[in-house]
This record gives sequence, structure tokens and C-alpha cells, in this order.
Amino acid sequence: MSEYDIIVIGGGPSGLMASVAAAEHGASVLLIDKGTKLGRKLGISGGGRCNVTNMKDTAELIAHIPGNGRFLHSALRHFDNRSIVAFFEELGIRLKEEDNGRMFPVSDRASSVVSALVGKVKNLGVQIMTGSPVREVLYGPDRVHGVLLDSGKKLTARAVVIATGGKSVPHTGSTGDGYSWAEAAGHTITELYPTEVPIVSREDWIRSGELQGLSLRDVSLSVWNEKGKPLISHRGDMIFTHFGLSGPIALRCSQFLRQVQRKTGKDSVEMSVDLFPDLRPHEMEAKLQDKLEAEPKKAIRNALKGLLPERLIPLLLSKAGIDGDLTCPHLSKNAHAALASLLKRMPILVHGTRSLEEAFVTGGGVHLKEINPGTMQSRLMPGLYFCGEILDIHGYTGGYNITAAFSTGYTAGMHAALKEE
Ligand SMILES: Cc1cc2nc3c(=O)[nH]c(=O)nc-3n(C[C@H](O)[C@H](O)[C@H](O)COP(=O)(O)OP(=O)(O)OC[C@H]3O[C@@H](n4cnc5c(N)ncnc54)[C@H](O)[C@@H]3O)c2cc1C
Repeated sequence: MSEYDIIVIGGGPSGLMASVAAAEHGASVLLIDKGTKLGRKLGISGGGRCNVTNMKDTAELIAHIPGNGRFLHSALRHFDNRSIVAFFEELGIRLKEEDNGRMFPVSDRASSVVSALVGKVKNLGVQIMTGSPVREVLYGPDRVHGVLLDSGKKLTARAVVIATGGKSVPHTGSTGDGYSWAEAAGHTITELYPTEVPIVSREDWIRSGELQGLSLRDVSLSVWNEKGKPLISHRGDMIFTHFGLSGPIALRCSQFLRQVQRKTGKDSVEMSVDLFPDLRPHEMEAKLQDKLEAEPKKAIRNALKGLLPERLIPLLLSKAGIDGDLTCPHLSKNAHAALASLLKRMPILVHGTRSLEEAFVTGGGVHLKEINPGTMQSRLMPGLYFCGEILDIHGYTGGYNITAAFSTGYTAGMHAALKEE
């Protein structure tokens, strides 16, 4: 006879929601976390305001989870973004919708969301053990058996839910401990890599720091594939740093440059910025022409102010081979065309990303072919369930990963409680 129906390992959004669902479906649940506080990563998400979910419809949600989002169809049928909103509003957490469907608490305080969720877990009678690292998941000959704590204590359960997250930002507790427990049950771990992570470039003008801190608003950033075609473009804001590119659209593009690197075997990948994404090339030329013709006596470097961020002008002129002291009427037709084309496609050679530890999200994880998408149960080890970022699922920031964590967590907890094996 086991001490618990279900042991959930990991008190992030997926493990907390798994505990709620399991307890609501009548199971006795023990939630174990190695940290002294639950929901640490959730508490720093969305810039510390806790981006609880995203209100896009299901097709759009899935499209914003480029790492195997389609696996989530069944889980979202059990518990989707609307269920998440209803769940928190029932707990007295009023939510508001911001840009691009992102949902935040009206209080703008992540702590309010985390404490409401933890409060719900406690009210349902879930036993909570914090400051208790799990060392191993114990397997019997034909099913999961329980867990072994670092302290040496063994705890038994009919089902174990592994919700230990990925390997990113390890000071929040996500140090990747669950992967080896999955492997011990026979699971495959697909290659782990950083996603939603700043991009590194060794271009001289990046290394010199001349653009460091410069933000570009509402531009389009593209990653080019080996055939010279844009593999992906994202529109929004970005910032130049001392090592490369950061900001929302750089984070979104980061996983795609790894794809090109893997395909080509080369470390450098071409990216580009379109500074005027609403203009077609001939409209760009006309706009530039108008601007320069309006200021015929000015040196080009000065005439371009107002059209472009000032700090970008010397770099663009040097890339186009234009002497910035020339006055506008002296600009040749070719130079004019070269400059207009650079404004639409300013190339940046990039060479990789920052580390997995610095990434917002971990790509790769427990192979999804080995998981039942309707229940989150292992296909290899009866009684073993997975949920959240440990799975080979990753989305863009904007509430998509947290939605995946809540949805898979709810599904795992509910089915573990229903004893369907
Ligand atoms: C700075 C930052 C901002 C983010 N912003 C967004 C955003 O805006 N939108 C979005 O969708 N996503 C965002 N994310 C990603 C999102 O927070 C994660 O995808 C999500 O928290 C994953 O939930 P999880 O439950 O799978 O794992 P985690 O939240 O990582 O929780 C795992 C838990 O397991 C515990 N644990 C690990 N090993 C053990 C062990 N051996 N024994 C016991 N317990 C253990 C850990 O202590 C931790 O509490 C952000 C991430 C970061 C770092």
C-alpha cells in the first residue's frame, strides 16, 4: 500500500496545477520541491508581473508554440487559456489583457498569482514538502514505485508526476534533474538547447559597442536560410547589446538560427533588419529621395536624422560606401539605391546564442512519441507522468509556455488521479 496516491515533483506552474487537478479528482497528493519557495520562475515571468496566459484562440496559441505546439491539442481540450482565466478569477485574482493577448494580474504583482495558486493547493489538502530535493524516482519491475529524497528518505506512491521544468535560469530551481529520471524509465531526451535567448554576433560594429543600448521599435528581424530565403521574420522591438541582439523579436528568432547552423554546419548565419517593414522597396527609395531632396544643402549624415536613429547613420553610410559629408545632390543613383536597399535589409552576421542557463526557455526534452498526449502518462512506465517544460515543447514568451505548463499539468494531475491505466 502506497503512502500517497500521487507524488508531484516540482512546484512550478505545471506541478502546482497537476497537484490542484489531482486533489480535485479525489487523490491524496504530496507536492515536493527542492526550493524553499514554490513558483519561483512563475514569479519572475512576464517581467515580474506574471504572464499567466495568452488569450489567442487555440490555433494561434499553437502557432506561437513552435516547439511541438500541436502535441497540446488534447491537453488544451482539458484545460485551455479560458480555463486558466476562470481558475484565477475564481480565486479572486482579476486579470487584464495587454498587447498581443498577454494576460496579467490587474495588481501587476506576480506574488499575488503565486500565492493564490499555492493557497488553492493547500486548501485542497495537498501536502507540501519544500526544501526537499528529490534524488531519484523509484521504479519497480513494471511500474513507478515512489521517490527517494536527498535526505535518504523513501516515499511511495501509485503515480509520480515529474514537473521539474527545463534547465534555464537554474537559480529558480530548474536544474534539469528530471531528465535522468526520465532516462532511467527508458525515455529519450531530445537534444537540449536554449530558446528565447539573446543572440551573439562577432561583427566588428557589435564588438565595438557603438550601437550598444540602441533600441529599434517596430522593425522586422529575419533569419536567412542556406538558400538565401528568409526562414522566419518577426516584427516588433529589439535592442543592440555589447554581444549582439536582444529584445522580444531577437528572442523569438533565436531558435531558428540554431536550425540554420545545424543544417549548414556553419557557425555564422545571416540575419537582417528591415527598418521600414511597411514600405515596399520602391516606396523606400521614394521616401529616401523625398527626405534627401528636402534638405539639399545638408551633409547626408545630417539629412538622414529624423528618418533614422542617429546612432545608426554612420554604420549604414559606411555599409553603403557613402561619404557622410557629401551633400544630397552629390549622391549617385547607385549609392542612393544601395542605401535604400540597406534600410530594407540591413545585414547582421550572427554566430550563436547565449547559454542555456541564460535562456528564458529550454528547447528539447522528453520525447513526445513516448508520452500519451491525452493523459501525459509515459507510454513506457505505468504510473509515471510528465508535464511542463521538461517535455520537448517550447513556445515564445508571451504566456505560451505558462499556458502549456498549466494545461499539461492539469491533464497529468487529473489522469493520474483517475487511475485509468
Ligand atoms: C525570466 C523568465 C521570464 C519568463 N517569462 C515568460 C513569459 O512571459 N511567458 C511564458 O510563457 N513563459 C515565460 N517564461 C518561461 C516559463 O516561466 C516556464 O516555461 C515555466 O515556468 C515552466 O514551468 P514548469 O512547471 O515546467 O517548471 P518550472 O517553473 O521551472 O518549475 C520547476 C520546479 O521543479 C523544482 N525542482 C527541480 N528539480 C527538483 C528536484 N530534484 N527535487 C524537487 N524539486 C525540484 C524546482 O525547484 C522548480 O520549482 C519565463 C522564464 C523566465 C526564466
